[in-house]
Amino acid sequence: MRKIIAVYPGTFDPVTNGHLDIIERASLLFGKVIVAVALNVNKEPLFTREERRNMLIHVTKHYKNVEIDDFNGLLVSYAKKKNAHVIIRGLRAVSDFEYEFQMSLTNRKLEPEISTIFLMPNEKYTYLNSSLVRELARLGGDVKCFVPPYVLSQLKMKLSEVAR
Ligand code: ADP
Repeated sequence: MRKIIAVYPGTFDPVTNGHLDIIERASLLFGKVIVAVALNVNKEPLFTREERRNMLIHVTKHYKNVEIDDFNGLLVSYAKKKNAHVIIRGLRAVSDFEYEFQMSLTNRKLEPEISTIFLMPNEKYTYLNSSLVRELARLGGDVKCFVPPYVLSQLKMKLSEVAR
């Protein structure tokens, strides 16, 4: 049977338990999952490309079919280059839907052979996103239930660097 390759793109600034929930679900469904850090986002990320990649590598190392990469430019071109047929996106709430709907139809227009598949996380992660984690941590809030322990330590280190 053909091994289906899926790309899971995002900013991952930093990777949260919500992202990990999606990665785990995807790793059970597809032959290979490439988690791809998007570099061409407008906003300046807190973590560098290497830091975001390293955190992802660290927290996904027990999944044998998960790979970490990064990309610049058009997502569908990157997915095609990787021989992927699936793009994975997480759907948290109805508020995610409109933007995701527009993106997935645009991507389908550009590359009809690549389908976007939406996965829903455990309901306890539906309100969680990276900017909430960054903001909470910056204000001294406890984020240990939102991110893996390794990310928590990196977040503390980064915020103490930024504050210096
Ligand atoms: P965010 O800053 O919202 O975490 P990302 O660009 O890192 O954004 O998100 C990448 C993908 O992961 C998107 O499809 C997003 O919907 C999904 N995602 C982010 N957080 C969660 C979560 N808590 N549960 C499920 N999917 C999520």
